[in-house]
Amino acid sequence: MVYIAGRGHSGTTLLGALLGSAPGVFDTGELISGLRRYDGKCSCGEHISKCPTWDNMRRCFDVNSSTDFDTAASQLRESTHIKRFLSTYFARPSNTTFRALARHNAQIIKCLAQSSYSYIIDSSKELTRSLFLAKFENNCKIIYLTRHPANILDSVYRRLDNGSGEKFLRRRYRPTKLYFPFLLLSLFSWIAGHALFLLTYRQRPAAFLIIRYEDLILDPVNELTRIENFTGIDLERAKNNIRHGHHFDIGCTIAGNAFRHNKQFCFNPKKAHIRHLPKRYTFLAAFFAFPFLKKFGHI
Ligand SMILES: [Zn+2]
Repeated sequence: MVYIAGRGHSGTTLLGALLGSAPGVFDTGELISGLRRYDGKCSCGEHISKCPTWDNMRRCFDVNSSTDFDTAASQLRESTHIKRFLSTYFARPSNTTFRALARHNAQIIKCLAQSSYSYIIDSSKELTRSLFLAKFENNCKIIYLTRHPANILDSVYRRLDNGSGEKFLRRRYRPTKLYFPFLLLSLFSWIAGHALFLLTYRQRPAAFLIIRYEDLILDPVNELTRIENFTGIDLERAKNNIRHGHHFDIGCTIAGNAFRHNKQFCFNPKKAHIRHLPKRYTFLAAFFAFPFLKKFGHI
């Protein structure tokens, strides 16, 4: 499996969809959070519970596992929460709870792959899950998407401004004025997230590839080649779609950025550079995140 980790507004859904266009690859969207929302919609338009892809996976899991699917999905979802970071970090390889979680995860991946797919993509983003996978799932490749905090703040600012609100620790907030605390919170959670990522990376450096969102937008073919070399996925079709402006089809993904419900999208990098964020926030981001901006190659 290939896991995509990163902060919100870092393009994780987009990258998942790009990889999902390759032959033999199934992009699931945000697999773990999606599995808990069985009343939600799959991007094929069906309710997740009625979509044949997800219904087959669930049946397969129940036949092949001694734990029922809802319990397993709930335990996996709970295990990805940031409050579980430290217990995951210090867990021994023999820890029975984590080994059981790894078995649930492997069974879900196996049921999704069946005989049709060689790679399953999960863009759940959560850092604790990347730590868990680095420690307990040897076959997993992890891509960490990092985006300059000023660009993330710009995206948050626009969402606050248009009323769609911002998620923090799995809750959505919709302030009507006072954006300052939310933008500051986003900035400091970016810094904390990148600090925790460095700890995660040290667990098994060979499992990780770091991609800057800005590079993916500016030179997608080159970044896809790096991902191709790292994962072994043949991304020639995705590169050709980008070169010729062809659309990408979105399959049965659950959870993630709402654009996945459009069923198709074109890779349009120009949109990514329109900035609405007041200058003072750009300065704050550069000031407070400076060491990490250097470390992750943003400056
Ligand atoms: Zn579907």
